Parts: sequence; C-alpha cells; structure tokens
Amino acid sequence: MIYLIPTPIGNLEDITLRAIRLLKEVDLILAEDTRTSQKLLKHYEIKTPMQSFHMHNEHKKVSQIIQEVSRGKTMALISDAGTPGISDPGYLLVHEALKQGIEVECLAGPTALIPALVQSGLPSDRFIFEGFLPPKKGRQSRLQLMAEESRTTVFYESPHKIVKTLGQMLPYFGPDRKLAIVRELSKKFESTFRGSLAEALHFYEAHPPKGEFVIVVEGTKNKA
Ligand code: SAM
Repeated sequence: MIYLIPTPIGNLEDITLRAIRLLKEVDLILAEDTRTSQKLLKHYEIKTPMQSFHMHNEHKKVSQIIQEVSRGKTMALISDAGTPGISDPGYLLVHEALKQGIEVECLAGPTALIPALVQSGLPSDRFIFEGFLPPKKGRQSRLQLMAEESRTTVFYESPHKIVKTLGQMLPYFGPDRKLAIVRELSKKFESTFRGSLAEALHFYEAHPPKGEFVIVVEGTKNKA
C-alpha cells in the first residue's frame, strides 16, 4: 500500500490525526526534501525512516519503490507542504503503482488551493485549477484561455513573478476583472487582497510581494 499524505502548508497544527498515525506506522516515508520534512517528523515524534523522492530522482526510484511495496512494505509519500501530486511530485508514483496493481490512497488534508478559493469570496461552486503557469513557452496562450474561462480560476505563483503576471493578465482579463490574492495561508503574515486586477497591480507595485501566494480570478461573464 502507498499512502499520499498531505502535510501542513504553514501552521504545523494543520495535519490530521490519521496522517500522524500513518506516518508513524508505515515502513518508509518518501519525502520531497528530507531536511524540510524532518522538522515535521521531529515535532510529532515520528521516527519512521525517510528517503528522498523528488522531481530529479523520481524516475530513477519509482520501480525500486514499487518492488519493495510489492514485497509487502508500506510507504507514505509526503511533499514539502500540502498534498503530494498537487504541483508537487506524486503523479508518477500513483500512475506506476496502479499499473502494477498496487493500491494507493491519498488522505484528505491540507492544500493551498482550497482555502484560497473559499476565502476569496469568488464563486466556489465550480472552479478550475491551473497549477503554476508555464514559465515562458505557452504562457500567453494559457493566459488567453484562462481569461475566456467562465468558472473561477485558481493558480499558484511565486512572489517574484506576481507583478509581472498581473501585468501580463491585463490585456486578456481587462482592468476590472475581480480577483483575490491569498498570501501565506495559515502563517503569521497571512493576508488576502480582494479587488480588481488594476487595483491588485497598483497595490503590489507599491508593496513588493513576499511569501507564498495563490491567485484566484473571477470567471468571465461574457460567456454562458
Ligand atoms: N502541494 C502544495 C499544495 O497542495 O498546495 C503545493 C506545492 S507548490 C510547490 C507551492 C505553491 O503552493 C506556492 O508557490 C504557493 O503558490 C502555494 N502555497 C503553498 N503554501 C502556501 C501558503 N501557505 N499560502 C499561500 N500559498 C501557498
């Protein structure tokens, strides 16, 4: 059995009792960054052995992991923060495990996109999640497609790109499109900016963004 276990995105208390129990019970924890996860394991007195599993070694390690699980080992995959497989390693392991008839289970738990969507104040009944935008190639066409979307769109952006991205959105979304920019969820300096695209650009040009951000954009009203 392979468990995918969501871990806190800031506040260490945001982890389920089941997640802690399973992290103690499995034979091995696969972690995106063992040093980062060590803090969490220490906090909850989890002594399970840990190995690294990240985007640079997942292709190399996946078959060995699957072999060990087939022989009866239980494993848990965790990422640096939030839910594995959501803009983090996880998909490859799930895909390969299922192909070999190994069961996978992802626990319910922390992820940045859901609290950002819900507290944005924008419609949360239907939404799409875009992960990170492509860095260069395909970025403009993705923005154009997103601007035509009638559902609320949620995406991740790194702090040093916030101003640039808002500027790039302007011609496609127009200055009046509503959005929310949710910063540092569950952490000390958590804040949510709610307003128009033009107001957001103005605000972040004056207040250079720091920390982790989720952008939530209202859907277009020009479509049914
Ligand atoms: N697996 C994670 C999840 O389930 O949300 C996402 C990992 S992705 C590498 C990291 C991005 O998630 C950050 O750049 C930011 O956009 C978003 N993020 C993670 N933690 C956050 C937080 N505490 N507040 C706001 N955004 C956060």
